[in-house]
Amino acid sequence: MEMIKCPECNKEISKSNTSCSMCGFKVRDFNEQSEKEYKKDVKRSMLIKFVIGIVSAIVIIIAINIIAANQKMKSFQAEVNEFLLKWGNYSTF
Ligand SMILES: [Zn+2]
Repeated sequence: MEMIKCPECNKEISKSNTSCSMCGFKVRDFNEQSEKEYKKDVKRSMLIKFVIGIVSAIVIIIAINIIAANQKMKSFQAEVNEFLLKWGNYSTF
């Protein structure tokens, strides 16, 4: 038989009891209530994880775009430098 602690008087009572045999606290109502709360918490934490997942995915996409843009800029600057260098070499002739 599964035993639970009465939230009111902390005495161990059977889970099948609807109320505490010591103080008369309605354990079943409390258990159902806490189970609902627990399910709500699980849903909430799943939602938080989902949001964190989306946010981190967006951050990663933005970071990749920034890195790609930087690399494009660098290669563009390298091309410009090369061109200017060539131009400079030709103009000295
Ligand atoms: Zn009790």
